[in-house]
Amino acid sequence: MNSFGDATLGELSQALRGELIRPDDPRYDEARSIWNAAHDRRPALIVRCRGVADVLKTVEFARSEGLPLAVRGGGHSIPGFSTVDGGIVLDLSPMNGIRVDPVNRTAVCQGGSLWSDVDAETQAFGLALTGGLVSTTGIGGFTLGGGIGWLVRRCGLTCDNLIAADIVTADGQYLHTSEDERPELLWALRGGGGNFGVVTSMEFRLHEVGPTIFGGLVFYPGEYAEQVLHGYRKATSGIPDELTTLVNMTTAPPAPFLPEEVHGKPIVAVGGMWSGRPEDGDAATRPFRELAPVITDLFGPMPYAAQQQLLDPLYPRGIFNYFRSAFFSDLDEAAAALAREHARVPNAMSEVHVHHLGGAMGRVPADATAFGTRDREFILNIVARTPDANGYPEVVAWAKGATDALGADAATYVNFTGEGSEDRVRAAYPRGTYERLVTIKDKYDPTNLFRLNQNIPPSAG
Ligand SMILES: Cc1cc2nc3c(=O)[nH]c(=O)nc-3n(C[C@H](O)[C@H](O)[C@H](O)COP(=O)(O)OP(=O)(O)OC[C@H]3O[C@@H](n4cnc5c(N)ncnc54)[C@H](O)[C@@H]3O)c2cc1C
Repeated sequence: MNSFGDATLGELSQALRGELIRPDDPRYDEARSIWNAAHDRRPALIVRCRGVADVLKTVEFARSEGLPLAVRGGGHSIPGFSTVDGGIVLDLSPMNGIRVDPVNRTAVCQGGSLWSDVDAETQAFGLALTGGLVSTTGIGGFTLGGGIGWLVRRCGLTCDNLIAADIVTADGQYLHTSEDERPELLWALRGGGGNFGVVTSMEFRLHEVGPTIFGGLVFYPGEYAEQVLHGYRKATSGIPDELTTLVNMTTAPPAPFLPEEVHGKPIVAVGGMWSGRPEDGDAATRPFRELAPVITDLFGPMPYAAQQQLLDPLYPRGIFNYFRSAFFSDLDEAAAALAREHARVPNAMSEVHVHHLGGAMGRVPADATAFGTRDREFILNIVARTPDANGYPEVVAWAKGATDALGADAATYVNFTGEGSEDRVRAAYPRGTYERLVTIKDKYDPTNLFRLNQNIPPSAG
């Protein structure tokens, strides 16, 4: 039972341009659900904000009523931060407007935009913003945590391309931040997560990409996993920034592009995107496509927008998910352990991902942004999934053990982290960075109103 009454809610509802959804509303179940069905929560209120005015009113309401506040961009938080039991969900999904400036190659995107929105608007001008392997993901949480995608080696992380933002802070101020205005806040938004307020819009630097790139996936039999990893390590060494690749150790889905005899068997996919001249793509990606006997090779020229949606069908909404990550450098040393984890994967939906990093991302100084782990060549992301609650604790236990195989003290990535525990958050930031983030939290959110996130508590609390 909440302490506010109908009159208070009526006032809020009247003041909003967007929708106020309560538990008795027929839209409630759809409105409260997020991508990860492992977090089935029942908020007291959901506000679908239509603009900054709605955000200001909702933040003020949460603060004055003492309600826990969950901020939702694209709703893809793995730990379920974008929903809350008994609190208020500030849903930015109606705020997905994007304005591209093709002359200066920048774009201003509202805080609820998805990658599919950004790709459509920027590609209209032959431009792209780096980030987003699955186009249904929101740019809000993605950018604020870092942002690793097919352009990470050529253009850096998404947060490296964030040049300005508008934010509503806990005390109800609407602030602008850029390199010239409150630069310490911009620094914090580049990797420090949703700790500092509701980011209503972000301005990004864009890059000339496509419309045609050379990309795709190649599949190898699971029994070659270790050989593929060693060969992959060798293939990544010294490659140009235009090429970003990853390995997905998984189980063959019953997809028409895979022969029936491998369906349901362990399989290793190597995915990649070459964003240089498309005619150079075949040669550039060739070493990644000859690592073991090939089952199917789907590499070829394709629209950048298609590459951005290539993996969408594999990551549907509404199932149980848990991610766990670890940055590392020595893939040769890790190969045997990773192949072992692949061999003992608890079900056909769970996967071992290795992303190749470096390039432009690695050249940004570690203290230039809050995202500080830039000197490792690879990141491991363990993706543990079940269709429903059955067997979920077992896959979570497997995921934890699988990352610990690389050393329990490895640095982590907040966006690939399935829970919000203090030690996982601390493991995501180098020492000086964490302390600097606390100082900025003290200034902008001293009471920790924004705590449903990979939380950096203020020093007072
Ligand atoms: C299918 C899938 C694919 C993914 N692929 C990648 C990938 O390729 N690369 C990668 O780096 N990560 C990837 N991720 C992880 C992704 O970056 C995080 O889950 C991210 O938090 C999603 O952002 P969102 O806005 O959709 O999430 P939400 O659940 O809406 O938000 C997560 C948290 O971010 C904060 N937040 C979101 N928007 C705002 C805002 N406008 N202002 C203030 N705070 C905000 C809030 O604290 C919120 O609780 C993927 C996740 C999924 C589920």
